[in-house]
Amino acid sequence: MNPIEDFYPLLTTPANIVITTHQKPDGDAMGSSLGLFHFLKQFGHQVTFIAPTNWATFLDWMPGRELVIDFEKNKEKSAALIQAAEFLFCLDFNILHRTKNMEQLLEAAPGKRILIDHHEQPQMEVFAYGISNPAKSSTCEMVYDFIMDSGHGDKISIATAECLYTGLMTDTGSFRFPAATASVHVMLAHLKQLGLQHTPIHDHIYDNALENKLRFTGFVLLNRMQVFYELNTALIAVTKNDLLKFDIKTRDTEGLVNLPLSIQGIKMAACVIDRDEERKWSFRSKGKVDVNTFARIYFEGGGHFNAAGGRSSSSLAETVETFKQAIEQQKQILE
Ligand code: MN
Repeated sequence: MNPIEDFYPLLTTPANIVITTHQKPDGDAMGSSLGLFHFLKQFGHQVTFIAPTNWATFLDWMPGRELVIDFEKNKEKSAALIQAAEFLFCLDFNILHRTKNMEQLLEAAPGKRILIDHHEQPQMEVFAYGISNPAKSSTCEMVYDFIMDSGHGDKISIATAECLYTGLMTDTGSFRFPAATASVHVMLAHLKQLGLQHTPIHDHIYDNALENKLRFTGFVLLNRMQVFYELNTALIAVTKNDLLKFDIKTRDTEGLVNLPLSIQGIKMAACVIDRDEERKWSFRSKGKVDVNTFARIYFEGGGHFNAAGGRSSSSLAETVETFKQAIEQQKQILE
């Protein structure tokens, strides 16, 4: 993988470009992709953003979202665009299988793949250019750096600013995680100087729930949470029936995993959701508890040091049992 700087001279020559991100794109994935989309458009490039799957509706306010192609709904068109692209920007993921059913098309694409990402352990060999930096708060911050370092800071429109702010905010837990560095706040100040209005973005993302979601959260905290005080760990296990009973969509379970971390002394929180295809795990931690490694070892997952995901094909009861054994085994890192 060549350094991203090597790509800067190519920015000003109109090209055929595809931007993509991980499946079930979150605020950072959608924000970085759309932010880059608005930026690249200004050079006369032919740019398409293909999302591997649909995304949460609370991101539907984002400027440009009506132009995003959902791969699962437009497979043939997407395949043709991927095949024709000279450059394929891969944002907020670093292993091609994170794009789910798009993996093979990306692998076979004749164009050059460009990585901008902040997850651990990238699949370096598949990218022609790129930057991987797990110390960065978000891919949105990295896209901002890309724009500024390439010398085109004057091309940050309000649309770009709104998109980039979204991932900066969501990936730092509204500027509270350690990754909210001085450079994050400098970037934020710059976006504000450009005229960014941040309060409506918080409203769209955090004050956008339906009553059933709040009722569900209350139910889950009361009935589905277990706290293992001796291991400083808490677990939420949601059954398929719970999802049905409260009419819960994928987006409504996001953020659930963070709640037990507000309990005094809890260093690791886990949440497992019984979905049709698989049991979906999320892990969050504080301080020195490495959930990236934990998710890799026990749940075919990974992500960041303090935030990771995973999966299991066994039943909910079985995978919960695996979790309990895993935390016993990892006692020393949890104490
Ligand atoms: Mn991210």
